[in-house]
Amino acid sequence: MKKIAIIGAGASGLLCAIECAKNGLNVTVFEQNSKPAKKILVSGNGRCNISNTQLSPQDYFSQNPSFVTYALQNFDYKAFEKYVSDMGLVLQRTDDGRVYPLSNEAKSVATLLMQHATLLGVKILTDTKITTLTPLFKDYDAVVVATGSEAASHLGGCADGYTFAQEFGHTIIPTFPSLVQLHLREKIVKKMTGAKIFTEVSLYINGQKEMQTQGDVLFSNYGVSGFAILDISHFVSEALLHFQAVDISINLLPEFTIQKLSNHIQKVAKANPLLSIEDILAGLLPQKILKAVLETLDIQHATPITTKLTKKIANQILNWKFEVTDTHGFRHAEVSGGGVNTQEINPKTFESYKKKNLYFTGEVLDVVGRRGGFNFAFAWASGYLAAQDIIKKKLHHN
Ligand SMILES: Cc1cc2nc3c(=O)[nH]c(=O)nc-3n(C[C@H](O)[C@H](O)[C@H](O)COP(=O)(O)OP(=O)(O)OC[C@H]3O[C@@H](n4cnc5c(N)ncnc54)[C@H](O)[C@@H]3O)c2cc1C
Repeated sequence: MKKIAIIGAGASGLLCAIECAKNGLNVTVFEQNSKPAKKILVSGNGRCNISNTQLSPQDYFSQNPSFVTYALQNFDYKAFEKYVSDMGLVLQRTDDGRVYPLSNEAKSVATLLMQHATLLGVKILTDTKITTLTPLFKDYDAVVVATGSEAASHLGGCADGYTFAQEFGHTIIPTFPSLVQLHLREKIVKKMTGAKIFTEVSLYINGQKEMQTQGDVLFSNYGVSGFAILDISHFVSEALLHFQAVDISINLLPEFTIQKLSNHIQKVAKANPLLSIEDILAGLLPQKILKAVLETLDIQHATPITTKLTKKIANQILNWKFEVTDTHGFRHAEVSGGGVNTQEINPKTFESYKKKNLYFTGEVLDVVGRRGGFNFAFAWASGYLAAQDIIKKKLHHN
């Protein structure tokens, strides 16, 4: 019977293990953590954004953008939905295509995967950290590296997969944290800690506007987080890796134009001459944010509200520039950019072009998706397709 070793009991390793075991193979999964599927358990704020109905290569970043195409077409959302439905996992989708388990609990995903793996006879060796791959080829016919990335070290994130790849001559595209919070130079952000607001964020790299997105921003003592920040973080992090200058501009009231906002302030001031500028802004912005806006512009309680002043305030509120100094690091990142160079991996089978019967699946590869279930989608697809190739091969180990 063919013997398969899988390193990593995460999303792609577990799906690969289940599929191999279903097809009669003898599968051992090595997991360094004391518990499998740690990232699945915390994903999507405990809900697990398990996939997306609208998978396309444009949702992924890699030095080799077409690498994901075959996998997304050959284990597409429909195929995935059927696969997990046969296992008993029912899914629900949101209007924008995100998919979650009907239970709304990540735990049901992890539990079902583990139950199926166990019932199919997969051996899952927890607290077992693999340090080198070469000896495994003596005992196993195929080895699958499903070790994930360096993101979230407290959940098992590490660089081991890259070391394994290098053992066989693979190259590594430099890695960087992605879907991660950002550090800002301006000390004033500290005073806004805890304030959350819906914004439009623009990203500038070396002074050039690169992208714009809308979503929540949450201020903290080191900088900013929130969905709008996570959505730009990949490009920020990559630019910082290349020592480029990165700035963001936060529009705190995207529904206003500068003219409309200054007209509004002037109108309220005229109708209520006793109100200070702080009182007027209190109807528009969270307290901590409006105080920080006024402090930045050095505006006092008694400062007269002139047309020039209202324009200045409106400009600050709609176009507040911050310099990004760093990301919050791999420990806090959800995923990682870079990884094993996909030019050296077969996009249909995920087998290494450098070593026969060696496979790389999931986030260890230089493939990262945007927020919305795309990272799990690639982990499932690559794990499934690697299993298909292993099943097809005539390998014999006694
Ligand atoms: C907080 C958080 C929330 C997330 N939410 C979502 C979400 O909602 N939707 C989404 O699509 N993506 C989400 N992600 C990303 C997603 O979790 C990953 O992209 C996905 O888990 C990658 O799957 P993988 O199988 O490649 O690796 P992983 O799931 O990381 O699994 C790799 C496993 O390998 C083990 N391992 C590593 N090295 C060794 C070794 N040397 N020996 C033995 N074992 C080893 C690790 O301990 C780990 O268990 C989230 C990530 C985080 C951190």
